[in-house]
Amino acid sequence: MQRLKVLVTRRWPAEVEARLADAFDVTLNETDTPLTGAELAAAMGEYDVLCPTVSDRIDAAVINGGGRVRLIANYGVGFDHIDLAAAKARGIAVTNTPGVLTDATADIALTLILMAARRAGEGERELRAGKWSGWRPTHLIGSALKGKVLGCVGFGRIGIATARRAHHGFGMKIAYYGRRPCEDAVVQELQAEFCPDLNDLLDKADFVSLHVPGGGETANLIDAAAIARMKPGSYLINTARGGVVDHDALAAALKSGHLAGAGLDVYPAEPAVPPALLGIENVVLLPHLGSANAETRIAMGMCALANVEAFARGADLPNRVA
Ligand code: NAP
Repeated sequence: MQRLKVLVTRRWPAEVEARLADAFDVTLNETDTPLTGAELAAAMGEYDVLCPTVSDRIDAAVINGGGRVRLIANYGVGFDHIDLAAAKARGIAVTNTPGVLTDATADIALTLILMAARRAGEGERELRAGKWSGWRPTHLIGSALKGKVLGCVGFGRIGIATARRAHHGFGMKIAYYGRRPCEDAVVQELQAEFCPDLNDLLDKADFVSLHVPGGGETANLIDAAAIARMKPGSYLINTARGGVVDHDALAAALKSGHLAGAGLDVYPAEPAVPPALLGIENVVLLPHLGSANAETRIAMGMCALANVEAFARGADLPNRVA
């Protein structure tokens, strides 16, 4: 196996960093400070392999900044922060880490559904502020989940895993929107209704949960018109990517009461959070925690490592996206 020169742009779990350091000539980011665009561009000329995360913008300017990197081994399943066309044009392979973060991210989607439906964030803020006056029949009344329709926008690994939890665990009915129907076994298992038109899904869903990749066709998919189309009193959940949603329209719909609530894990220009949301009580705001459990973060690192090792051996890349 070639002893490649590898740059890891952020801190990874210690077990994975140790494995990388055994096998390769690795530069780790001990301070965990995000690299600037100029630093990333310079790295493209100094290393054989770049291992970025969602917090690194690997655009055409970065990719064209140097001529040495031959593999971008992303730590994460989403790759909308990488310009695949620019990478392809320069003959750079790109890999991701699919599958290993499906359960963790579906767990966070359910966390957001439950927190939004049961007003958990509002309740905790009230209690910590010393404003809780005690139990009463009309206090912080939320919504039940049983019998309600969960509408998944995108029905791949995480969409299906979220639907499984909602259906088998909480008695929700499942509908989904996608470019094609999913496999029969999943439809049977979840009694899932396919909506080939997004508006049909928005008309019937009590909870709309987003599971499409970011970028391209999905940019602003949930725009002002889509939010207006959602059922009065429904909820929007986003663990996909911030750019899928028009946050000004979302804030207006939460304030007017058209939507009962929302739960967000992702934002268009992280770590910035759209300011209009910060003062709104009926939105749950998490800091991109989808894959954040110890087991998953190690598995993501090991998956990225497997791609680097395959590249070093000249073997087929297990998770090639470009
Ligand atoms: P996946 O298995 O590829 O599922 C994506 C689904 O979206 C596929 O079924 C795909 O269907 C569908 N889709 C793609 N483009 C579409 C479009 N324009 N309209 C309708 N459906 C479309 O991916 P995954 O593993 O479930 O991950 C989904 C996304 O979640 C990732 O891309 C990432 O951005 C996000 N994510 C977030 C976190 C977090 O920490 N919050 C963690 C992991 C992942 P086709 O068969 O038609 O392509």
